[in-house]
Amino acid sequence: MAHHDHPARHDGRFAPSPTGDLHLGNLRTALLAWLFARSAGARFVVRMEDLDQHTASPAHEAAQLRDLAALGLDWDGPVLRQSERFALYRTAIDDLSGRGLVYPCYCTRREIREAAAAPHADLPDGAYPGTCRALTAADQRALETQGRRPALRLRAGDVEVSFVDRLHGRVTGRVDDFVLCRNDGVPAYNLAVVFDDDAQGVGEVVRGDDLLTSTPRQLHLFELLALPAPSYAHVPMVLAPDGTRLAKRHGAVTLALLAAGGHDVAYVRSMLGESLGLCERGEPMTATDLLARFDPAAIPSAPWVVQPWVVQP
Ligand code: GLU
Repeated sequence: MAHHDHPARHDGRFAPSPTGDLHLGNLRTALLAWLFARSAGARFVVRMEDLDQHTASPAHEAAQLRDLAALGLDWDGPVLRQSERFALYRTAIDDLSGRGLVYPCYCTRREIREAAAAPHADLPDGAYPGTCRALTAADQRALETQGRRPALRLRAGDVEVSFVDRLHGRVTGRVDDFVLCRNDGVPAYNLAVVFDDDAQGVGEVVRGDDLLTSTPRQLHLFELLALPAPSYAHVPMVLAPDGTRLAKRHGAVTLALLAAGGHDVAYVRSMLGESLGLCERGEPMTATDLLARFDPAAIPSAPWVVQPWVVQP
C-alpha cells in the first residue's frame, strides 16, 4: 500500500467550476482555503475548472472572481484555466498509454451503475468495476461498430492508497480504474487536478469533503507521474435545513441573492465567520480580522446547517 505522509507545505488554492454563481457552501470552502494558506503565511492561488465547455462560461468565471474579491479574499498570480491546458492533459494521457496504463471503456453510466450494484462488487460508491479492462481488440472493434465511443481509463491495478487528512485523520481507499478522458474527448477532472495542483505548487489542498473519496485516485496518479503530492484538508459541507447538501435550488444562497434580500457581503462574511466560530453574526469583520482569529486546529468538524431564513424555497 502506498502511504502519503508529508511534511507540511501550505500553499493553498481554490478551484471552482465556473458553471454558476458561488453559493454559501462554495464561499465557505474558499474562505477556509484562504484562511488555511494565509494563516501559514503561504501563497494562495485560484484555478478555474472549466473543462466542460458546455457548462462553464467566462461570465460565470468573472462573477465568481468578483464574489471572492468582495468577500475580501486575495490570490497570488494569474488565475489558471483548465480549458487552456488540454494539450498538456492529452500528452499526459498519451504518456500513460505508452506505459500500458490506459484502456478504452465503452460502458454507459447505466451499465456501470448496474455492474457496481452487483452483490460481489466490493468497491466504494461510484467506483468502476473493471468491465472493459480485459476486452480483446476484436471485442473493442465490435463495440465501436455499434457506434460506441470509448472513454479512457487508468489501469490502476487495484492498489490501496493511504494518507493523513488534516481533519479526517488516516484515510485508506482502493483506487478504481477511473476515467482519464471522457468519451467526448474532454480530459477528466481527476487527471487535470493532479497536473494543475502540481503546476500551481499547491502544498495543501483544502476542499469540500464530498471529494474525500477521489483523493486516493489523485494520490495514485501523483505517484505514477513521480510528482510530489500535496497534503489534504477536506472540510465539512454546508447543508440546507432538510439535511441535503446546499444548492442553488435552496433559494437565496448566493451573494447576489442575499444582497437582494438585504444581507450585504459584510453580513455574509460575518455569517461565514460565525459558522467557523470566529465571530458573532453581524459583527463587522474584514477577511483580515477573521484571519487574525483563525486557528486551523479549531474549525468545527460537523457540517454547517444554514438557517431557514437564508433558504427561501
Ligand atoms: N472544481 C471542483 C468543484 O467546484 C473542486 C475540485 C477540487 O477542489 O479539487 O467542486
